[in-house]
Amino acid sequence: MSASSESAAPRTVLVTWVDFPGEDSPEVRRLQEVGLELRRAPRLRDRSVDEVIRLARGCEAAIVSTDPFPREFFEAVPEMRVISRVGVGSDSIDLKAAEEHGVAVAIARGTNEEAVADHTIGLMLAVLRKIPAMDASVRHEEWRRTEPWLGSDLHGKTVGLLGLGRIARLVAERLAGFGVQIIGYDPYAVPPPAVRAADFDEVISGADILSLHLPLTPETRGCIGRDEIARMRPGAILINTSRGGVVDEAVLSEALREGRITGAGLDVFSEEPPVHSPLLGLTRSTVLTPHIGGLSREAIVDMVAHATDAVVDVMNGRKPRDVVNSPHPPPWEAGLLARADSGGHTERNES
Ligand code: NAD
Repeated sequence: MSASSESAAPRTVLVTWVDFPGEDSPEVRRLQEVGLELRRAPRLRDRSVDEVIRLARGCEAAIVSTDPFPREFFEAVPEMRVISRVGVGSDSIDLKAAEEHGVAVAIARGTNEEAVADHTIGLMLAVLRKIPAMDASVRHEEWRRTEPWLGSDLHGKTVGLLGLGRIARLVAERLAGFGVQIIGYDPYAVPPPAVRAADFDEVISGADILSLHLPLTPETRGCIGRDEIARMRPGAILINTSRGGVVDEAVLSEALREGRITGAGLDVFSEEPPVHSPLLGLTRSTVLTPHIGGLSREAIVDMVAHATDAVVDVMNGRKPRDVVNSPHPPPWEAGLLARADSGGHTERNES
């Protein structure tokens, strides 16, 4: 039986990804071929859980940005079967609750790490060489070429990486040409050859440039707090392209304002956009970007295709490639399509 067979009632996929392609795109066609209608609700800013629930009611699939999916979502939208992230972080989703409600959570692994690695190096150089301030100095005809405006070399520095997963490895590869020492800490991964394994404290206190590549988990939330920032080298810089919740931003702002550390390059914030953050006022020492590390033209094409694959797979009774939880029952086995409003008819879609 084909997914678009006459017997299958139309299903709905909520699409909150803002750059999801138009109606004549291959992605939309593929979703329609498995019997899905799109409900587009592009997310431009943070959304409340109530809003996400309201948007998702009646949907069995979702292709999403970093909208919040806590336990109450799964209780309120029992028809949901698959949430596919256009991205790799799953911290906005309660994976356990999804699991208990038989909802598969898939991520777009392997699609945007090159972009994040490029962005990480870009932030390091932008902070060290004060590129945004230099740009402003030219535009305002100030032509600043003396102290206190001079930047620092990346060459000769020690870079500390916290988390040694995909992005950190690519950052280490890119750093090979800069003549730096690289130390790194990750209790769950073997360091790549260019990185000397060190313990957490050594990475914090031994790095001139501390770069964060950790997932946001209960273990890592706030792990760069008052003690850690106090132990950073005087004059060090912090780069965060992972998740804002890993860093205590109030303490970071204080340390930057007092000059205890020199600068920060931040792509991610505990509140996004960070409209209430004290970091906004620190225009000389910080370079801030709008959670854009993983977004490049090339990465978006891959992410959207990957996220579409996951939904199509579930609808076709196949387990998607990058499911990050263990839903019970697995929606691909339960036969999402077969669960159609067919009066208890449970034929499995085998296409
Ligand atoms: P990954 O899963 O490949 O690597 C994460 C690494 O962190 C793993 O090796 C893991 O063992 C390690 N880790 C987990 N807990 C740790 C701890 N307590 N201490 C030290 N290491 C720990 O993920 P990745 O693809 O490298 O991505 C890293 C993070 O970057 C993601 O989790 C995501 O939050 C973030 N990210 C941000 C953007 C962006 O647009 N800025 C885009 C993609 C990913």
